[in-house]
Amino acid sequence: MKHAQLHEVFSSIQGEGPWVGQRQIFVRFAGCDIRCQYCDTTLDEVQILDGQPYPQSCSIQIAIGSEQRERLPNPILSQTLTMSCTRLIIPGPSRPVLSLTGGEPLLQTTFLMEWLPTVRNHFTIYLETNGIHHGDMEIIRDLVDIISIDFKLPSSTGLRPFWDDHTKFMQSARGKTLYIKVVVTRNTKVEDILTTCTLIRQFDRSALLVIQPASGPLAPDSAMLLNYQQTALKSIENVRIIPQTHKILNIP
Ligand code: SF4
Repeated sequence: MKHAQLHEVFSSIQGEGPWVGQRQIFVRFAGCDIRCQYCDTTLDEVQILDGQPYPQSCSIQIAIGSEQRERLPNPILSQTLTMSCTRLIIPGPSRPVLSLTGGEPLLQTTFLMEWLPTVRNHFTIYLETNGIHHGDMEIIRDLVDIISIDFKLPSSTGLRPFWDDHTKFMQSARGKTLYIKVVVTRNTKVEDILTTCTLIRQFDRSALLVIQPASGPLAPDSAMLLNYQQTALKSIENVRIIPQTHKILNIP
């Protein structure tokens, strides 16, 4: 499969985690196999393929510095995607960063296996994932540079726990540059933070945990946030509270 189901391709700043503020080219893969309570991904013009909803077209920024976008029908060919990303590179000394985000990029691992080797020499590859598909992570492990692993807390998502998958996922990503993120809401239970920390401690107690507050009606208050961080710092070394800054700055 040399084509991908995509939502959009554009240049912006990384809004989350320790690379916050870095200019990146975002490739937003369409489709996700879970549905978190706080998810802000909307699917307009949805079509269903293999039981998964996918948008009929992909919105692509036409040039760096331009707000204009073109709509191409899904699926997008690998050559078209490479061209769309390449024209968003800012000429200069810094190495461009490609952010693979979603949806869940690892649902399209067959495409990634074929496409990433063709762009790997030109970009740093930053993967944002829900940390569930450990088998797929194993497959593309050597094709990515930085991994943002989103632990899904049952009290935040309203879904079943994925602790076992997250544990296996961290093992699949071992040796890569990575950090773990948890989205917290006003419903998040301290027990879920404790379980997260236990898993991180067993993996690598110095691994970074980012606590990211949900926005909107589910947003936790400041006392809750500080309490989550205090709880986590009792068992692991590096815990930061970092909000989604692109929303504060009103940047896409
Ligand atoms: S894993 Fe990400 S894309 Fe999927 S439902 Fe949760 S927040 Fe949304």
